[in-house]
Amino acid sequence: MTDSPPVTAPAQTTAQLERRILDAIRRGASMEDIAALRHHTDIQTPAGAIEALKDGNARFFSGKSGRPELGVNERRAQIMGQTPYAAVLACSDSRVPVELVFDVGLGDLFVVRVAGNVVGEAGLGTLEYAIEHLDVHLVMVMGHEACGAVAAAMLPPEKIAQEPQNLQGLIHRITPSLVGMPRIRDKKARMREAVLNNVRHQVQTLREQTVIQAAEARGQIQVIGGYYEIGSGAVDFLIDEADLLP
Ligand SMILES: [Zn+2]
Repeated sequence: MTDSPPVTAPAQTTAQLERRILDAIRRGASMEDIAALRHHTDIQTPAGAIEALKDGNARFFSGKSGRPELGVNERRAQIMGQTPYAAVLACSDSRVPVELVFDVGLGDLFVVRVAGNVVGEAGLGTLEYAIEHLDVHLVMVMGHEACGAVAAAMLPPEKIAQEPQNLQGLIHRITPSLVGMPRIRDKKARMREAVLNNVRHQVQTLREQTVIQAAEARGQIQVIGGYYEIGSGAVDFLIDEADLLP
């Protein structure tokens, strides 16, 4: 079940950072100086990024979202570049808006959303861009409760064959993760297990990519999983290797 992390106010470092950025903009600081300010905070490590996401989600699920929106000046300054601290691969499901779930603002997260949170060539390229060019510190694959794409992958092959071709292709990116799944009688538990298996499978797929492998090996990023529970609003984090093994 979900651990309930302590609810904290939006990280003090973030509030201080936004003030420092605003001051820098008023002073007419360069884009490099402004980017450097962000890099001095503790969200610029895998562990710091995980903590920031956990804190943000705790604010969200406890109804204390800060809805951080930048002021006009800060928003305008974003035209100079972006420095998101984490990349998230999530489902397109309308009930899983990543920035709201983690209570983050403009420019914080680099998000790929595809039904069933699967990756193909374009998704992998997008994540590689985030790692190589935006220097993100975390890559998270986030599945969710009641995922329609995962449910579709559990249908008999003849049912799947009735879907449009591209949709079949997407579903077939999920089906390998469901092979050999133990028989679970409870429907909700079965769905959760299938979603988690798919998350683990996608994490595995990411870790087979050279760019991601190298970034994880040098400690720039950590690849983790997550499970968003629609009803409670809480995200379970899959961080330990034991939780991520297929
Ligand atoms: Zn979904």
